[in-house]
Amino acid sequence: MRILLVEDDLPLAQALQQSLRHEGFVVNHVETGKDALTALAVPDHDMVILDLGLPDIDGLVVLKKIRAKKQTTPVIILTARDTIEQRVQGLDFGADDYLVKPFDINELLARLRVIERRLGTADSAIISISTVKLDSAAHKVFVAEQVLSCSKKEYMVLKALMENAGRIQSREQIESRLYEWGEEVISNAVEVHIHNLRKKLPEKFIQTVRGVGYTINKA
Ligand code: CA
Repeated sequence: MRILLVEDDLPLAQALQQSLRHEGFVVNHVETGKDALTALAVPDHDMVILDLGLPDIDGLVVLKKIRAKKQTTPVIILTARDTIEQRVQGLDFGADDYLVKPFDINELLARLRVIERRLGTADSAIISISTVKLDSAAHKVFVAEQVLSCSKKEYMVLKALMENAGRIQSREQIESRLYEWGEEVISNAVEVHIHNLRKKLPEKFIQTVRGVGYTINKA
């Protein structure tokens, strides 16, 4: 899941980025409304976390502009404005959710998971396929009830495949979920992560579709 974080409060933005990355999200950060609109002009993100008090354009105007272009990317508003009228206005402008600062990071993460479930095929934080269970709330993978030890990127690859079980994911699709802007893309990283995952997962759990990508069969 790729998140665009629009926040001009740098310490807050850094703390959020760190927590979100820890949860396996890919986070790109911009500080202004103008940069947010530029970033959102192409379909590169699955979700937007939007501060309202931005230095140039008001966050609500940013929201209005992206909705006017019929962009349906889910938006969670983060703001210090907490009157009922302002909340209603944010939701009326097309926000999917609204968090008032200061907020607890765990609440933000829970709300992101709700949106993630709505976007994806999973109907809970846990996806179970065969003997493999991925718990996106606990950020853990279990095989036959035993915790599987895997790196953050291995977890992200497995999550991408399990969320899309029954569908083929190309190497590029998986790659796009692993890297942030400016992060160096290692050319055969996806293959390496899959190779390592296969050593820990049941045989044939991840299947190669020659010339196309990878897939996991549905349970
Ligand atoms: Ca602000």
